Formats: sequence, structure tokens, C-alpha cells
Amino acid sequence: MSKEILVADHVTKVYGIETKNPVTALSDVSLTMYEGDFICVMGPSGSGKSTFINNLSTIDVPTKGKVFINGKEVRTMGENEVGRFRYENLGFIFQEFNLLDSLTIFENIAVPLSLSNISSDEIKERILTVAKRLNVEFLLEKYPYECSGGQRQRAAIARALVTKPKLIVADEPTGNLDSAHSHELLELFKSLNDNDGVSILMVTHDSMIASYSQKLLYIKDGKIAETIERGDLSQKEYFYKIVDVNSVESQKLFVD
Ligand code: ADP
Ligand code: MG
Repeated sequence: MSKEILVADHVTKVYGIETKNPVTALSDVSLTMYEGDFICVMGPSGSGKSTFINNLSTIDVPTKGKVFINGKEVRTMGENEVGRFRYENLGFIFQEFNLLDSLTIFENIAVPLSLSNISSDEIKERILTVAKRLNVEFLLEKYPYECSGGQRQRAAIARALVTKPKLIVADEPTGNLDSAHSHELLELFKSLNDNDGVSILMVTHDSMIASYSQKLLYIKDGKIAETIERGDLSQKEYFYKIVDVNSVESQKLFVD
């Protein structure tokens, strides 16, 4: 039995709870994620996908319910402990890249390692290795504003991976990548998942990208409406199932 890495226990998130028009973005959602899981989240725009992964990964705090990471309730951890935990375990890839414009790509990728006591030689080596894997090694001396959207996204992914996280949390990581780079990234994720036991929780709107995962959660109106497991299906069969769910769910949007 694999270890539970992330547990969401009846998690609800309400935005603007003190206002006249509160929005329930996430409604009583539970999930147990085991070490080595590769889970994909899909659903219509505004259905709560980003809220879901943010609340599960210490980026945001639920209004109700509990989140446990490695068996520990996040709410009971102090700010330093959460920070340390993030640094040691999590690799975030956001929709916006959050690269610092005053730093070169090399320096940006180095940022998460600045907290560590890794030697500067090893930092350099790690950055070169990850930059090669993401095809940004020729951009290391450039600044973010000198790079294209796809290049910045790849640099942000390199920054997320340079700490060798145990759990990758990614919100539309291929949103700005061309199809060749998208598939390269997913092959890299798959290899990290298969060979290094890295767990992955990823939002995408692309069924093809989702077909690299082992499990799909379809979110609608802040709830998990469908769960599909890849099981013994080939990637192609799993892909067809994902397309079906998206198609059926989209068609329901036209029925009252
Ligand atoms: P998705 O990622 O699926 O597009 P989100 O999780 O971003 O959806 O948003 C879910 C719902 O919560 C939407 O109705 C959105 O408008 C609302 N929402 C998201 N973030 C905020 C916020 N900071 N304040 C108020 N409402 C928000
Ligand atoms: Mg989103």
C-alpha cells in the first residue's frame, strides 16, 4: 500500500464570504492522493480547478475542511514549517510564470535553491541539467522579457523542478507551449513519475495532455463530477474515455 501524500477531507472554499455575493468555488471535495499518483484535473472554465489545486497544495487556505500533507494537517503547521515543507517537497508551475524580470533565466531557476545549503558548484550543475531537459540552456543569460511566452514557461518549469520536488503541482503547464514542447514536457513528467516516483497533480484543458495521467478528475461547479482511472487502458483508449467525458459534460451545459 503506497503512502498517502495528500489528503483533502471535505474541503470547501468560499470567496468573499464577508460580502453580499459570496462565491462557493469549491464545495465539500475530498481526495486521497498516494505517493506516485499522477492525477489530472479537467473541467469548464470557472469550475474551480485552480481553487482546487491551490487549496490542496498550501497556496490557499480552505474555508471549511482539512488538508493533510504527509499525514500532517496544514492548518496546524506554522508559517515557517509550511515554507520549509513547500521548499522540500513541492514544485509549483502556475498559469502566470512569476519569473522575476530583474533576474536572468539562470538566476530565476536558482531562486528556490537560495534557501538550501547546496554548494554553488552543485547549484550550477543542477541548473544546467534541468535547463537542458527543458530546452532553455541557450537562454540562461537572458532576461525573461527577452524570451517568448513558451520559453518563459519552460524556464518556470525548470525553476519548479530544480529542487527535485516529490510532488509537482501544475496549473495548465502547457498553456503557452507549442504541441512539440507540450508532449516533451509530458514525457518528462511521465518519466519523473515512472522512474523517480514523483507525484503529479495537474490541471489541463487538453485531453491529449490529460491522457498521460493515471487518473482524471472532472470538476464541475466546484465538485468532482467524474473520476476516471486509466487502469489497464492504453493511452489511446484512456484518451478516448477522457474525450467522451468532456464531450458528454459539455453537452449537458446546453440542457436546463
Ligand atoms: P478554474 O480554474 O476552473 O477556471 P477558478 O478556481 O479559478 O476556476 O475559479 C472558480 C470560481 O471562483 C469562479 O467563479 C471564479 O470567478 C471564482 N474565484 C476564483 N478566485 C477568486 C477570488 N480570488 N475572489 C473571488 N472569486 C474568485
Ligand atoms: Mg484556472
